[in-house]
This record gives sequence, C-alpha cells and structure tokens, in this order.
Amino acid sequence: MLPLRKNIAEMAGYVPGFQPDGEGWIKLNTNENPYPPSPQVVAAIWEELGDDGGALRKYPDAGSKEARRVAAELYGVDPSWVIMANGSDELLNNLIRAFAAEGEEIAYIHPSYSYYATLAEIQGATVRTFSLSDEGRIDFPERYDGKLFFFTSPNAPLGCAFDNDTIADLARRCSGVLVVDEAYGDFAGESALELVQQFENLVVTRTFSKSYGLAGMRLGLAVARPEVVAALDKIRDHYHLDRLALVAASAALQDQDYLRTTVARICRNRDEMRDKLISCGYQVIPSQANYLFVSPSDGNGKRIYDALYAEKILVRYFSDPRLSHGVRISIGTEEEMAATLKVLATLV
Ligand code: PMP
Repeated sequence: MLPLRKNIAEMAGYVPGFQPDGEGWIKLNTNENPYPPSPQVVAAIWEELGDDGGALRKYPDAGSKEARRVAAELYGVDPSWVIMANGSDELLNNLIRAFAAEGEEIAYIHPSYSYYATLAEIQGATVRTFSLSDEGRIDFPERYDGKLFFFTSPNAPLGCAFDNDTIADLARRCSGVLVVDEAYGDFAGESALELVQQFENLVVTRTFSKSYGLAGMRLGLAVARPEVVAALDKIRDHYHLDRLALVAASAALQDQDYLRTTVARICRNRDEMRDKLISCGYQVIPSQANYLFVSPSDGNGKRIYDALYAEKILVRYFSDPRLSHGVRISIGTEEEMAATLKVLATLV
C-alpha cells in the first residue's frame, strides 16, 4: 500500500465544467468570455516571443514586479498590497494553506464555488457552510470564529452581487479572514477593493479568466494587507507565472477601455436575454455577472440541460438539490444567445 494521506485517498476531487471535444458546440457552461482579449494583450505576447522565442530560455520575474505595479496603480494601492497568481484558484488554495491548519475550520457561502471545499479537504481543514437564498438573503451568525470565510460576490452560480455595507458587516463579524471572491467583480457595480484598507481581515481576489477573456492564460490577483501578501508570497511556487502570462497581465490591466467595452457588451446581452427569458415564462435571478441562473416552471433543471445538450448547446447543471431547479447559462455572443433562446422558448 502506498502511504497516501487518508483524506486524499478518500476525496472525490473537483470536477470542473465539462470541456467538449470537437467543433459545433455553443459553449455556455464555464463563464468564459465570448470575445477575444484586448489586441494589446496579443501584441504584448508576440513582442515577448520576438522572432525566435529567445526570451523563453530565461526564467520569468519571480516577483511579478511589473504586473503588480500596474495592478497597484489601477486599484490605487501600494504594490506591496498586490499579489499576482496562476489563476485565482491558486490564491484560494494558498489562502487555505496560509490560514487553516489541519483540523481547523473554514467556511463558505452555499451555493457558491464548490472548489473551496475541495481545497479545504486537501488541506485537512473542516468546512462549514452558510446559506444564501435565491433572493440574496445571507444566513450568517453575529460572530464567526473560523479561520477563513469565502464569500463570492457576485455569487456564482446565482449572479447576485452584494454592496459594500454588506461586505463591511461580514468583515466585522469574522474574527478570521474574509475572502471576497470577485471572480466576476468587473461585471458588477461596487467592489470590495474599496474596503481593503479599512478592514485588516479583508482579502479580495479577482481573475483574468472572465472579464479580460484570458481563461487560457491562467491569471488572477489578490489585494490585501502587505502581511497577507507576504505570507502568500512565501508559500507560492517561485516561478508560478510564465513570461507570456506576465506581459499579458500588464497589457490587459492597462487597456481598461477595452475591458469596459467588452463588459458593457456582455451586460447588455445578459439583460436582453433575461428580459426575453422572463417573457417566455422562466424565472431568472437578477444578475451582475456574465451568466444567468434560469429556472423553468416545473423546477426541473436537468430537463433543460438535456434538451439544450441535444442541440449541442452546453450550459451548467448542478445536481445539488439547492440548485437543481435551474441551469446556469453563461452569456455568449449575440448569435449564441439568439440560438439558445430559440431552443429555450420551446422548453418552458
Ligand atoms: N472563483 C469563482 C467564483 C469562479 O467561478 C472561478 C472560475 N470557475 C474561480 C474563482 C477561479 O477562476 P480562475 O482560477 O480561472 O481565475
């Protein structure tokens, strides 16, 4: 018998959204951006590669200094408050490793991103959940003494976002660290980034996978107090970001005009889709993200998933009883939304 740790032997492991093989799918299941990244990102990658890719011989900057500087300028903080990451998943993982020892407790809001639970399981931390209703009501105690509380805003998969009064209230109730996972924050109004300097226990994580259209580059960042950043720096892999990802991160952050245009287009498509689905008779939770949680009147999400799948339209169905009454539909291009609506109109 190999000396595998007991919790690793017993755990199921996280299953990410299915990535279909082959062409012809309308892929609305993992909240990717339907539009390409900024042309400035593509230009920066070509420039880094040069004629012969010679720069790739050398290790990247282990400290991501330029990307941190650009992010810090954008968010109005000192670079010591920023850490870059290989996708925001890396940050969630390292936050658990930094703050929750084996047997200690972390919590997350349910429903939200189930990967928090997998990461806790790997670490051997225990997990508690606090519930969120479809109407956005949070069931959270006056005082929470766990090491970390992951709060997803906008919520995934429901789409509702929370204002900074709510976030500040949660930060006050946590004796440990409040991690606001703003993977979809660019699609929402307020950001908890504005609160980071007020609350010493607040960490905000963001990704480049959604609003910046860079899921394939694996980039994320966090803004937090320098003590937290220093701890995360100690435990990450030293060369965790490659040269192409680093130049892509800086270029993406520097092209805020492109970000705003793309985000506005996705939000417009989302709001139009929501109106049309409601007219068809679906229940659709108001969303401040790049997806909609859509429920048919019979509360059978699997039926909708299967019928769309048969038409090669891939959405996300969660068998969790809390979510099985609907499906999550990522916002695609105008054409993809029209094709999806056409099928959905026959299924209400
Ligand atoms: N948080 C949430 C809520 C997400 O939905 C995702 C993407 N599935 C992530 C974090 C991780 O994103 P990434 O690692 O691509 O930055």
